[in-house]
Amino acid sequence: MKWLDTILAENKNFRQSVSQEALPTERELCPYAVITCMDPRVNLSSIGVLPFDTSGQIQSQVRIIRTLGGIAESRSLVVGIHLAGFKEIAVLMHSDCGCSVAYSKIDKMIENLESNLTPTKLEKFKKEIGVPFRENLIDWLGAFEDPKNAVIKEVMALKQNSFIPDGLIIHGLVYDLSSGGIEVVINGYTT
Ligand SMILES: [Zn+2]
Repeated sequence: MKWLDTILAENKNFRQSVSQEALPTERELCPYAVITCMDPRVNLSSIGVLPFDTSGQIQSQVRIIRTLGGIAESRSLVVGIHLAGFKEIAVLMHSDCGCSVAYSKIDKMIENLESNLTPTKLEKFKKEIGVPFRENLIDWLGAFEDPKNAVIKEVMALKQNSFIPDGLIIHGLVYDLSSGGIEVVINGYTT
């Protein structure tokens, strides 16, 4: 079965299993947001950000921004802070992140870019990244060696943004995939 067919079949099952009244249709504000990695192994239940229950009822209003490495993009933050009312953000990075793989395998990725893209597209992308291509690509990806150093760098970088109000609280956390434990690298209440 092709994936799109699976999606549609799953949606049919979903609609039969949930209660229509339980589906969240009212927007509720929440002061909390977590910025974390797109990696599915990062289980947000570990920090009390629970998934929907089986009836379709929402269990957590915490906003979730998932990107590679847990490096936020500005659009979500501007709308989140200045419209949706974020007051406190947790940046949650993790062990064995794809951002670390991108760092250690940058040459392999460059080889793949060269084989997957047409020469015209490759040239355009290289121009966008600039020279030196390899180093600039690492920067542009936000690729990192160590999640603890990366979360410190990311929290500091977030605070430097002109659209971040002075009073916004930002925590820097690292989730360990093998133990499920959270390490507080930056406590936003004391920094
Ligand atoms: Zn990751």
